[in-house]
Amino acid sequence: MAQSYKFYAVDDDAYSLEIVSRYLRDAGYGVSTSTSSTQALSEIVEQRPDCVITDLMMPGLDGLELCSRIRKEPALANTKVVVVSGKAYEFDRRRAREMGANGYVTKPINREGFLSSVQRILEDKIVVDFWGVRGTLPVPGPKTVRFGGNTSCVTMSFPDESYFIFDAGSGIRTLGDALMRRGGRVTAKIFISHPHWDHINALPFFTPLYIRGNEFEILGAAHGDRSVRDLIKAQMDDVFFPITLREFGASLSFRDLREETIEVGSIQVKTMLLSHPGYCLGFRMTYKGRSVCYITDNELYLPTMPQYNPHYVERLIDFVRDADVVITDTTYTDEIYPQRVDFGHSSVSQVVDFVHRAKVKELYLFHHDPSETDDDVERKHAAACKALEKLGSSTRCIAPPEGSQIRI
Ligand SMILES: [Zn+2]
Ligand SMILES: [Zn+2]
Repeated sequence: MAQSYKFYAVDDDAYSLEIVSRYLRDAGYGVSTSTSSTQALSEIVEQRPDCVITDLMMPGLDGLELCSRIRKEPALANTKVVVVSGKAYEFDRRRAREMGANGYVTKPINREGFLSSVQRILEDKIVVDFWGVRGTLPVPGPKTVRFGGNTSCVTMSFPDESYFIFDAGSGIRTLGDALMRRGGRVTAKIFISHPHWDHINALPFFTPLYIRGNEFEILGAAHGDRSVRDLIKAQMDDVFFPITLREFGASLSFRDLREETIEVGSIQVKTMLLSHPGYCLGFRMTYKGRSVCYITDNELYLPTMPQYNPHYVERLIDFVRDADVVITDTTYTDEIYPQRVDFGHSSVSQVVDFVHRAKVKELYLFHHDPSETDDDVERKHAAACKALEKLGSSTRCIAPPEGSQIRI
């Protein structure tokens, strides 16, 4: 299917144009090109390509004007536009989006990064990657090779190039290595569910934070008078870590979140406080009618327990209702949970019950207990599948290994 995409590339710089079209042709796509943007417009209307790749600053019609003219053509309603420019300013990115561009890639481009951006825009999917699926403590060793031993870190990338990182457990180090290999500038939002060690401790080992030109915003719940900035700074304080926040080369900002809804481009991010010691936020991301939820750490008590709060469970069900994907704390088996009550984590039966009632399409088991081996996680997964079957549920259950990817 990918092979059938048609591209039209326009750039007044013949050398840049040659690189872009070579990358696209090598990947098997059809490409028409022009160094004149005015000539390009009429050919684009005629050819109706799936995607237009355009430079920003060109004589005659510049990239933004070209973009807005394409958007005014009803026949080109399905044509995506990707701006490729040497300008890395946020202002230019924003202007391009406002003019109707679907993506913005900065020069110099590299083959892998460019093609993956373009493919992402054409597929129009949310890509979720699991970099660490364990809870509490990293557990390397021969018994955790299948699901991996790293603690919480999940990323979501969106076709408009928004990149979200959820938690900075030890999995974020592998993510950092992958981003460094990919090259290019990294702009991302890092959502911190809560400041327990397994969710923040590897942040100082996330290499892209040390690279000038990268931009990160760290978002999470404040704890009373301690902002999310204070919480991150504290773990790197003095004797605990020899590098301070000031030494990060990337531009870094912080934002305290409450239960609220924020818009990031065309993505809606909704938050909810979870059942866990301190302030811990769950997240629901909605993009073009599709929703992915990241809900960890969270304790669902058994209905027979005095701590059980039906109002909270109903709110949580409403929060995740009809979601395509729910990644959620399923730390314990039902057998172990009675020995771990009030630790702030959930067991299989309660997780299965709430996702089934919320008519969630896919449940992803997450935040496994450090004592669990690969075999234990597989048994837990089998128990969850069986429990869903018993409920006659249409929810599918997956235990995602570290390194796996889903596209929604
Ligand atoms: Zn945790
Ligand atoms: Zn926790």
